Amino acid sequence: MRMSRIFFIPLAILLQLIFYFPVTAQEGGSDEPYYIVQENDSLWEIAVRFGVSLDDLQQANKISDAGQVVIGARLIIPGLNGVNGQLNAVTVIYGETLRSLSRRYNLSEATLAQLNRLVSPAELYVGAALIVPLAEDQNSSLAARVDLISGQSMLELAVLRGEDMWSLALDNNLPGTWAGLPGDVLRVAGDTQTESPAGLPWVITKVEVEPLFMVQGGTTVIKVNAPPGITLSGSLADRTLNFFPQDYGYVALQGIHAMTPPGLYPLTLEGELSNGQRFAFSQDVLIQEANFPYDPSLNVDPGTLDPAVTEPESELWASLGALVTPEKMWNGLFASPVPADFTNCWTSLFGNRRSYNGGTYDFFHSGLDFCGQTGTELYAVAPGKVVYTGFLTVRGGVLVIDHGWGVYTAYDHLSEMLVQPGDAVQPAQVIGLGGDTGRSTGPHLHWEVWVGGVQVNPEAWLAKSFP
Ligand SMILES: [Zn+2]
Repeated sequence: MRMSRIFFIPLAILLQLIFYFPVTAQEGGSDEPYYIVQENDSLWEIAVRFGVSLDDLQQANKISDAGQVVIGARLIIPGLNGVNGQLNAVTVIYGETLRSLSRRYNLSEATLAQLNRLVSPAELYVGAALIVPLAEDQNSSLAARVDLISGQSMLELAVLRGEDMWSLALDNNLPGTWAGLPGDVLRVAGDTQTESPAGLPWVITKVEVEPLFMVQGGTTVIKVNAPPGITLSGSLADRTLNFFPQDYGYVALQGIHAMTPPGLYPLTLEGELSNGQRFAFSQDVLIQEANFPYDPSLNVDPGTLDPAVTEPESELWASLGALVTPEKMWNGLFASPVPADFTNCWTSLFGNRRSYNGGTYDFFHSGLDFCGQTGTELYAVAPGKVVYTGFLTVRGGVLVIDHGWGVYTAYDHLSEMLVQPGDAVQPAQVIGLGGDTGRSTGPHLHWEVWVGGVQVNPEAWLAKSFP
């Protein structure tokens, strides 16, 4: 009894010491995970980012005033197990998976998921912020990657690489050499550094998705850096992507429909490499709300709202923008479709939610409306080929120009069309005259831009050079 009592006292003191001085005891060590305060960081934001309470963060760092946080200060992040060293926030790029990220940052998938409170792979969407330990040895975290091709075992790969397969398994956080999957991209020791998205075959060195966060009515550009000779297809939010060869690889343009409910949507790439190996990869992207305003209900001729009239016209309209021709005819910014006096005079913007004659807001404004008069000269905005001219009930006098790669421009409510289907047109060429025909509330030009079968915000094409 006496012995155990003697033993108990020092133990109690020891325990007390540990509990009283946990921070002090570890402050000198470099093991505790920490974060270096960056410009524009607030303590509250840092707490949210790392999933700790503000109190715990203040306590761990002995900060009494949450407003007093200095740029460059080293903040200990409490409550993270299995992680040490400096933590950093990085942006998830297209092509990454939990598996590939665990290899990139040399961390188990479970730790990475815990660190980021991930409950579903969908949370690794393109552009998401991810907390990762900053690698002390960049060479090891960004080592060369190889594909485990179908039918190849890790033993074969190890022999080919002159390595032993157990190191290969260990380096890739695999429980054993049997766990390498066909098509897997493995980290191997090597001198070639690459930041290629590791969820994709190694020949695809980069996938640029612009913008990272998509928006209703926006134009998305997807650039895939890869050698020639691969076949590439894909889809974005259920729209088929059309890729065209470029000197760096392949590019696709796709419009985001203005009525797409905001949320996560898959961006899928698939194809075949020149060696016959097939691949497929899908990762979510975020489509954001554009906050289009609601226009007051418009009063129009009820005859122009009859589905018997509007549906066949809409079908015809959609079919005009559906064909994808392989020659890109435009270059740089689109020019203004109206004379200089009207270039900056817009009566209605793209995307506005619309209702007609007091009905529900099931419609959106599919173009950009320019001021003008009946007889105002209208110009082609870029080189292209006229594919349609005619008079329609809703859209009035129209003409549609194909610019290649699934990009079209359309001009509505014209009083006169001065070109024919099949005509090649150039910017600044007069193609028609403004008017007030169709479902219109006064003379104006309704101008549309179509990308991949979807009407997009035309303003972007006047301000930015695509792709
Ligand atoms: Zn309009």
